[in-house]
Amino acid sequence: MPDQQPAGAGMDWRQRAACIGHDPELWFPKPRDTTTAERAEAICARCPVINACRRAAKREQHGIWAGRHRFASWETTP
Ligand code: SF4
Repeated sequence: MPDQQPAGAGMDWRQRAACIGHDPELWFPKPRDTTTAERAEAICARCPVINACRRAAKREQHGIWAGRHRFASWETTP
């Protein structure tokens, strides 16, 4: 379902987030913990407000937002 939240509608989109009720630690997996990351990404994939989340994620440097990991070195750490 596409995000139909109008621009400037504040933070109300968070109330419709698919991650509500799940363990927040899923969105902050340890390095190379692909199982946890994939669980979070699967939830994000069916989130009705993923577009609003993606816009908010531009300010974030850690965690999984809108199904994408925001910690750049996570994938390149040996
Ligand atoms: S896209 Fe993912 S992190 Fe963002 S609100 Fe939806 S479920 Fe939560």
